Amino acid sequence: MKKISLEDKIVDRKILSDLRAFPSEVVLGGDLTLVASQRASEYHQKYHQQHKDQINAQKKQDYYERVEEYKARQRATNLERKKLVLSYYGGRCACCGEIRYEFLCIDHIEGGGNKHKKERNNAPIYGWLVKHDFPEGFRVLCWNCNSSLGAFGYCPHQLEEI
Ligand SMILES: [Zn+2]
Ligand SMILES: [Zn+2]
Repeated sequence: MKKISLEDKIVDRKILSDLRAFPSEVVLGGDLTLVASQRASEYHQKYHQQHKDQINAQKKQDYYERVEEYKARQRATNLERKKLVLSYYGGRCACCGEIRYEFLCIDHIEGGGNKHKKERNNAPIYGWLVKHDFPEGFRVLCWNCNSSLGAFGYCPHQLEEI
């Protein structure tokens, strides 16, 4: 995508100064500032009209870049929070001992995870736990153990221990 180059701007400034050099409406005692500001606003309108596609494309690109930047920051913050929360609640799966954070999540010991998620409007639990000063009733599980407990009510690891 082509950015509006400095050169383009300089060329247009020249046109602007040419326009201002011959203000046909200026009569003696007329309001020069008003004429100048009218000129400037006409110029801006004209400039915008002529470079509409370029300006819109640039705006769109800036917007997407900002959104991507924001998302990246948000991801980094969420990850930091996740690590903090996981380490507070023991840092390893309460069932199998998995310690790699990519595999870990937070489990509601008494259940009710879905209800709680709705109450948080689907916001990630990590921020919620930090905000609520790490309440009791939560533990670290890995996704395997967590989903097995959810689906079957037990984890195969527990059977293996017996
Ligand atoms: Zn596990
Ligand atoms: Zn397990």
